[in-house]
This record gives sequence, C-alpha cells and structure tokens, in this order.
Amino acid sequence: MVDDLVLAVRRLGEGALAENIEDRFAEGRADPRALPMLADAGFLGLTLPPRYGGQGRDYVALGTVCEELARIDLAYQITITVHLALTAMPLLQWGTPAQLDAWLPPLARGERVATFGLTEPGAGSDVAALRMRAVPDGDGYRLSGEKTWISGANEANAFLLFATLDPSARHRGITAFLVPRETPGLTTTELTGKLGVRAGDTGSVVADNAWVPAANVLGRPGEGFAVALSALGNGLFTVGYGALGVATECLALTVRFLRRLESRGIPAGREQWVQAHLAGIVSGEARARLLLARAADLKNRGHPSQRATSLAKWVAAQAAYDAADATLTIHQAFSPGPHPTIERHLRNAKGAVIYGGTAEIHQTMQAAYALGDREDRPFRRPALTADDLAGLTSPADGAPG
Ligand SMILES: Cc1cc2nc3c(=O)[nH]c(=O)nc-3n(C[C@H](O)[C@H](O)[C@H](O)COP(=O)(O)OP(=O)(O)OC[C@H]3O[C@@H](n4cnc5c(N)ncnc54)[C@H](O)[C@@H]3O)c2cc1C
Repeated sequence: MVDDLVLAVRRLGEGALAENIEDRFAEGRADPRALPMLADAGFLGLTLPPRYGGQGRDYVALGTVCEELARIDLAYQITITVHLALTAMPLLQWGTPAQLDAWLPPLARGERVATFGLTEPGAGSDVAALRMRAVPDGDGYRLSGEKTWISGANEANAFLLFATLDPSARHRGITAFLVPRETPGLTTTELTGKLGVRAGDTGSVVADNAWVPAANVLGRPGEGFAVALSALGNGLFTVGYGALGVATECLALTVRFLRRLESRGIPAGREQWVQAHLAGIVSGEARARLLLARAADLKNRGHPSQRATSLAKWVAAQAAYDAADATLTIHQAFSPGPHPTIERHLRNAKGAVIYGGTAEIHQTMQAAYALGDREDRPFRRPALTADDLAGLTSPADGAPG
C-alpha cells in the first residue's frame, strides 16, 4: 500500500513545497526548506534498509513518491532521483560493508545530501567520452575535471563522481568515487538561465587535483561504467515516474478547467478538437503508468529491467511533454493570458525528455533491443530487489567481491 505516501506528499504540497512555487520558478531559485522537509518525511531514505536508518520501501513506493512530488514541481522529484536513486541506492548495491556503514545512515536521514556527477561539457549521451581524470596518488586518487548540469550541485555535500583512469580506454577506464564536499580542491557553481526545473538547483562540480582515498572508490577501479549504468537504471525509473506526475497533474488541470467552463455555460469539452487533446493526455498518461508499473514489478523481483525501464522513461517523458502542451493549448483557446502553472509544467517536462538519456538515445536503445543487437545483462553486483531494500536480504549475498 502506498496511500500513506500519497497523503504524506500531498500534506507537504499543501504546506511549504507548493508555496510561492510560481515566483520561485520565475526567479530561478530553489527553496532551502525543501530538503529538510523531504528528510523529515523520510523520503531521502525511502528505499534504504531500516538498519541504515531508511524506510525499507519498494520500487512502487519510490515511484509513487516521485509521481506525487512532480505533481507539485518536477524539481522535488529530481532531488529524490539524484540523492536516492542515483547515489544512495547504487551505494547499497555496490558498496563495501565499511562504505555502507559510513555513508548510508547519514544519507538515509538526510544529514548528508548526495548527487550524481556523470555529465561533462564534452560528454553527455556519450558517457565513455568523459574526461575527468583520476590519477593514482599514494593511497588514493587525484581527480581533475568538470561535471556540468548536475542537479543539486550546490545543495549536496556528497557526490558520486565518475572519472577516468585512462581516457583512451573509454568505458573501461571509468571509475566511481564517493566524494565529500569538504574535499580540498572541490568547488561548485550555479547554472542560471534554465528553461525548466528553475525551482531546483543545477550546477557544475569542478575537481582541481582533489584527493580522494582509495577507500572511496565505489565498485572496482575501471568498473565505474557498470556502476553508472546500474544507477541510471533506477534514475530513469524515478524520472519516468516524475514525468507521469506531470502528465497526471495536467490531466487533472484540464478536466477541472473544462468542468468550470461547462458550469459557466461554455461546453468546450463537447468540441471534437478539445476531446482529441484530452483523449491524447489520457492515453499518454495510461501508457506511461502501465509501462512504469511493469518496470516496478520487474525491479521488485530482481528481474532484468533495463529494457522495460528505458521504454517506460521515454514514453512517460513524451507523455508529460505532450500533456502539458495539450493542456496549455486548451486553456489558451478559452482563456487567453499567461498560465504560469501549465507553462512551468511544460518547461519542466522538456527536462524530463533530456535527462536520464534523451528521447533519441532511448529510441536507439529500443531499436537495438528489438533487433536483438542489445540485451539486458546482469552486473557483477545484482540489482536491488524489494527484499534488499527492506533489509531482508543483502545485494552482496552470493555476489563475487
Ligand atoms: C535539468 C537537467 C538536470 C540534469 N541533471 C543531471 C545530473 O544530476 N547529473 C548528471 O550527470 N547529468 C545531469 N543532466 C545532464 C543530462 O543527463 C544530459 O543533458 C543528457 O544526458 C544529454 O547530454 P548532453 O546535454 O550532453 O546532450 P548531447 O549528448 O550532446 O546530445 C545533444 C543532442 O544530440 C542527440 N544525440 C546525441 N547522441 C546521439 C546518438 N548517438 N544518436 C542520436 N542522437 C544523439 C541527443 O538526443 C540530443 O538531442 C541534467 C540535464 C538537465 C537538462
């Protein structure tokens, strides 16, 4: 049951999370009260085992929280995505016992807030082109390079950064590092002037000879590409549910608007073109919901889920964008004037089409799966099941290394 989570998010929505959201979006500033509120609600540790201070909930719960947060604003779902799905959950999957004990409890309680740094100015879709260097130095590595478009870069105090031991080795050189903000040589800057996700923090992370102990390597040296792909498997899932939240909210806004017009003697909902737009929103929302539910079920059971998650993310992001577009079209036709809430959802939805792999990348992947050129393969550390998240089993059980 996830009704408790729906209610919990809606309570936050009725409180501070929705307060002044249009102003914050217009001015491009994140709400500093959001993180403590998400932490107090237990959302930052939602899918971490109780023995590390988490709530032990499953993927359906994770999706539900992301959907509901995105109905308020997509920026809140992104916080869950980067902190939990892209950093804390990969830590649970790939971490050593010492790393789990040191990092997970403060992450679960929100005492440390994490984000995920993969993208670089010259490496987005082509992850293997990343240039942040990791050079062995004593019992650790010196990192140098820049990550860009990092959600929560300026709010986070823990970073999962991907650097290469050898750029010519492409994906085989990539290594994942857990990096505390207080690391000398690590700085962050804010990215301003965004089209969407303007009520959320986005920025760059620069490492200038920043020394990180070898104990902070997540997975093995050279295994970072697998760590990133497995993390993205969960990240995409939450991005898909966030997009679903935008589609669901747009559907609700459209129905409310048409009913209001009807009560004023304007039967707009009887017009064929309006019905076509409304039916399009309904259809996109339903396809996204069904595909995401399938991905959640596969993930809960530890079955291969990358193909299903990629399809669900792509369809959900497009459904969100189309739903916001149709909602704005209908509102504008009968009530010209600015519609800041719908415009905000439309601009946010554009982000969901890009991050977590662009539409074109997922189309290419789906074509490759269909042609048999690509298949889901297990990682060295098995994907986290619902039992792993509940703390009933450990992902490291029976896994080599
Ligand atoms: C709001 C927001 C938040 C983000 N947060 C994070 C974060 O927290 N951490 C992080 O690491 N990254 C983050 N990103 C970055 C995001 O993951 C990248 O923007 C995304 O992967 C695309 O990379 P790119 O921007 O370099 O575009 P590119 O890869 O340069 O792509 C440009 C265009 O070319 C197309 N293209 C590229 N390669 C191919 C191909 N092989 N075939 C067909 N078309 C192709 C793309 O689809 C796109 O349309 C965020 C982005 C946004 C917008």
